[in-house]
Amino acid sequence: MKVLVLNCGSSSVKFQLIETSLEAIEKNADRLLARGGVEKIGAAAAIVTFEVPGRDIHRETPEILEHREAIACVVRLLTDSEIGVVKDKGEIEAVGHRVVHGGEKFATSTIITDEVAAKIKECIELAPLHNPANIRGYIISHQFFSDVPHCAVFDTAFHQTMPEHAYLYAIPRVLHRSLGVRRYGFHGTSHRYVARQVERIAGRPLAEIRVITAHLGNGCSITAIAGGKSVDTSMGFTPLEGLIMGTRSGDIDAAAVLHVIGKQELRLSEANAMLNKHSGLLGISGRSNDMRELTKAALEENDRAAALAIEMFSYRLRKYIGAYAAAMGGVDHLAFTGGIGENSALVREKACQGLEFMGLKFDPERNADAGAGGERVISTDDSPGMIHVIPTNEELVIARDTVRCIEGVI
Ligand code: AMP
Repeated sequence: MKVLVLNCGSSSVKFQLIETSLEAIEKNADRLLARGGVEKIGAAAAIVTFEVPGRDIHRETPEILEHREAIACVVRLLTDSEIGVVKDKGEIEAVGHRVVHGGEKFATSTIITDEVAAKIKECIELAPLHNPANIRGYIISHQFFSDVPHCAVFDTAFHQTMPEHAYLYAIPRVLHRSLGVRRYGFHGTSHRYVARQVERIAGRPLAEIRVITAHLGNGCSITAIAGGKSVDTSMGFTPLEGLIMGTRSGDIDAAAVLHVIGKQELRLSEANAMLNKHSGLLGISGRSNDMRELTKAALEENDRAAALAIEMFSYRLRKYIGAYAAAMGGVDHLAFTGGIGENSALVREKACQGLEFMGLKFDPERNADAGAGGERVISTDDSPGMIHVIPTNEELVIARDTVRCIEGVI
């Protein structure tokens, strides 16, 4: 079955066309047919990329003012007689959508019906920046693909298994009941994918192993997975809490924020921008939110603020690894993913320093092997627990969930 996976953001549409089936999922034999995206929707020139495995990347910079034109562009490229991969859009048999927030309403992926779409809309107040674009992507793509099933895959769903003691905040209980204030967690699709890969590599059922997955990209989160379920995760009510990120602060004393708001007479929108856009690696380094650039600055220019940002990022990460090992009574597997997790040997080395006491023996040479790509183990052969690098693949999970929903096995 050819599944179009759509990830619609406020100014972008990313897509992949994946051929998969229950049998292909079982055999890990799914096939990527094409991928790409439309970025900078609404700007003078959008950036369109279209990539078919084995061919050169096709690029365009047309004016694309809104999401309808962006999705029309994706359909045009996929069906183009020269560079396309399907003869007509009728070959596409299902559409899978990334939806950021499913609140407490969705614990699994689901086929989108009118009722489901209405419930996703009810979650908008929990994710005002993301869910509107996700829903718009569904509404528009449904006009292009009206006869095929559409499936919603939620970033929050995997974490709905967290126990109450992990997801509640120690604030008046009524705020959970009346306003839905609790930890939801995000990046669930990525954590779930990485945990499944660990299961495959370990050769033991996920239900029998304790796994910590660290998704480190521009946004960062870490999850404790025991008995095959997410039992705790670092992002909270919003994707602000937890680890230090590119431009987000992660954990901070709420009273410090109140202090700054009071002293500097900030509006709520300004305080929000301070924590989400001007903090994290960028705020500490005063230079960049990009780990690659900071690493270069720290190592080649001796930039002390950049070095401090990397140190703080890695230290916070190490603290969480320790906390989640304690939460699960130990850890059998630690896995790194995301742009930083997959590529920054420096961050992995700093984060894994001194973890031997809990059975994670880090191998500096395996970690530093610049030639190694893809899935790999970076712990020593005699380490009781294993440390992995596993490139994430959220789109594949969305395509697979779409098939499973259609086949009625979710
Ligand atoms: P993502 O959001 O998953 O695309 O991750 C983006 C982050 O990954 C940015 O901070 C990048 O600087 C970082 N990143 C990508 N490649 C590397 C690399 N080779 N070394 C260090 N950081 C990297």
